[in-house]
Amino acid sequence: MSHPESKPTASEPTQSSGERRAPVPSQHLETLAVHGGLGHTMSFHGAVATPIFQSSTYRHAPDADGRYDAVRYSRLSNGPNHVVLHDKLARMTGHEAALVCASGMAAIAGTLLGLVRPGERIFFQRGLYGGTQILHDQDLPNLGIGCDLATTDDVAAWRDAIRPGTRAIYVEAIANPLTTVLDLAAVVALARDIGALAIIDATFASPVNFRPSELGFDVEVHSATKYLNGHSDVIAGVVAGREPLVRKVRLTQNHLGGALEPHACFLLERGLKTLTLRVRQQNATTLGLARYLAGHPHVHAVHYPGLDPERLVPSAVRDRFHGYGGVLSFTTEASRARELMTRLMLATPAPSLGGPETLVTIPATTSHSGVAREARLAMGIEDGLVRVACGLEALDDIVADFAQALA
Ligand code: PLP
Repeated sequence: MSHPESKPTASEPTQSSGERRAPVPSQHLETLAVHGGLGHTMSFHGAVATPIFQSSTYRHAPDADGRYDAVRYSRLSNGPNHVVLHDKLARMTGHEAALVCASGMAAIAGTLLGLVRPGERIFFQRGLYGGTQILHDQDLPNLGIGCDLATTDDVAAWRDAIRPGTRAIYVEAIANPLTTVLDLAAVVALARDIGALAIIDATFASPVNFRPSELGFDVEVHSATKYLNGHSDVIAGVVAGREPLVRKVRLTQNHLGGALEPHACFLLERGLKTLTLRVRQQNATTLGLARYLAGHPHVHAVHYPGLDPERLVPSAVRDRFHGYGGVLSFTTEASRARELMTRLMLATPAPSLGGPETLVTIPATTSHSGVAREARLAMGIEDGLVRVACGLEALDDIVADFAQALA
């Protein structure tokens, strides 16, 4: 890993007992997912799993320097559960630093508000996650931050559309719900050229499938509600990136109040330990379901990059992807899509993704219901588009469920 070891600072908790061992350098994500984090080097009374430090505040360190952000208070994201997670997530993403947040939206909003000033601009990929789209449409402009939206997925054509004063380019690793993968290497090159930050929402990929730090992204954000936690029982977010940038976001978040509470930290850390196993199984199940649906007479089109990476994934980034995650979408007749929602027995109609349960939605009536029909159709989101987020059930059972529901 290229990032420096994260050391406890005066603002971070010092553990009173337990043997302190030198950090063990390790290379593989499976190992980092389990051992990354200070829990490995600084044991808490010998506990193998990090205990929940359900304390809002901590006794001042004797050498506390009196700075507001150095006070040991859980809203400042410096409790033991935060510190462990920050270290683990920095290692797993390959970035210098990481920060956990109260939700994916807290991570995204904190990042953009922490790194972009009023009067500056952000250039966004089109087809954004709905919450981010609303930040683009309303909240950021209300705060004086200029927002521009790409009109094409062809990154080479973006240069002419980018306006002076652009401080950041913001993209998603795999866009929702059509699972588009842009030329992300070209995004980083363009950002460097114009002196802007390259920021990516890597939620759909997770570090198992794609690590944006390898392409040079300055900051990545995640809805940790999805794969990172992976159990549909926590709302959480992550920011990872270059240390000075993550520090700025953290200071902003200290005032915005988007810290993750200790019990949610515990659940997120526990979920992370099995990330690699879960995501690899979800990759395989989703590819299997995509192949099945592609051959089904009632299915008009299937969207999943793994079906044909040569055609669907830009060559510059193909080698960086190790799988395409658990989300696919497909089109069928609109009436059949609606009927499907009531006929599926295992797959549950619900928003979200990344958990053990397979979930299905019709984006036209859920995530994109606020978009005018014409604009939605122009985006390729038809009335009969169904999004499937595969869980951890056996492929055969999921295929059988779709077979009976589509029949
Ligand atoms: N980014 C993506 C790609 C998402 O799918 C979501 C939620 O669905 C978010 C961000 C927001 O995350 P959260 O719901 O944890 O705030």
